[in-house]
Amino acid sequence: MDPDPDPPAKGYRSYGTWLRAKFGGKRVFKVIVDAGFTCPNRDGTKGFGGCTYCNVDSFTPVLPRSLDAIRAQIEQGIARARENYDAERFIIYFQPNTNTYAPVDRLRALFDEALSICPDEVVGLAVGTRPDCLDAEKIALLESYCGRLVVDLEMGMESIYDTTLATLNRGCTHGDLVAVLDSLAGSPLNLCVHTVFGFPGETRDMMLAYADEINRFPQIRFVKLHHLHIVSGSILGVRYKREPFKLFSLEEYTDFLCDFLPLLRPDIVVQRLFGIADWDLLIAPNWGMKKVRIQAHIDGEIARRGIVQGSLYQG
Ligand code: SF4
Repeated sequence: MDPDPDPPAKGYRSYGTWLRAKFGGKRVFKVIVDAGFTCPNRDGTKGFGGCTYCNVDSFTPVLPRSLDAIRAQIEQGIARARENYDAERFIIYFQPNTNTYAPVDRLRALFDEALSICPDEVVGLAVGTRPDCLDAEKIALLESYCGRLVVDLEMGMESIYDTTLATLNRGCTHGDLVAVLDSLAGSPLNLCVHTVFGFPGETRDMMLAYADEINRFPQIRFVKLHHLHIVSGSILGVRYKREPFKLFSLEEYTDFLCDFLPLLRPDIVVQRLFGIADWDLLIAPNWGMKKVRIQAHIDGEIARRGIVQGSLYQG
């Protein structure tokens, strides 16, 4: 599955390198689709109010669940990516909210419609969801697109500790994620888990232990790593303003990643090392740099220290 060179060129197995190798050097771009989903942790099915770090405003569907709206988003997204980034191939990314939170027939109609647009240039489908919003039918639907497309299934792991997940009002446990991962052993889907480092109450050792937990699932092929950042419109944002708590500085987070990456299984592709909200939403930490400079800082330090993903992994 992994066409990356070995050892990884950047000290870690980067998604950009993986995409270039996978698609013959073509410029591949993700086109984000908001299909108007909501979230069961917000509408009362699993909980109310959502996860405490989430921006509630971003849950509000801005588009009707119409296939026309999906088509327009994709056509415009592809046109923009072509114009601004010389993109040549596209992955359709159902990102906002919980993108399997609908009956399977509805999901099939949405995905089929999305994938019917520019079929010669669309090479992938990516779907972000919660572990408790998947069942055998939905997984079979996603797997039915494999072969002709690369299909990524992205799930929030966030923390591996149920005590943390409970304080975050996550509405599901780490066991829920493990159950889905177990059911996906041997699946052709590219599984990606999304983690956050820096939740209150978790020590450095507790966070480093995420690597061991991820490593034990060979079906996990991608990770998205993030530091905790506080956004306005979230419950944590309100709490933080009332009573600020310790968050990573850029130097501390970089230092943490330099300890984390050697523990991470060497075949896992790192889709993201950090994530940061737009300026107008970000409360803290504000590292005072654009994303590209933050990435350069982290990459520079990884190179300077000679960090190699998986160098301390004991399989
Ligand atoms: S983080 Fe995901 S699961 Fe939690 S409230 Fe937001 S959309 Fe729902």
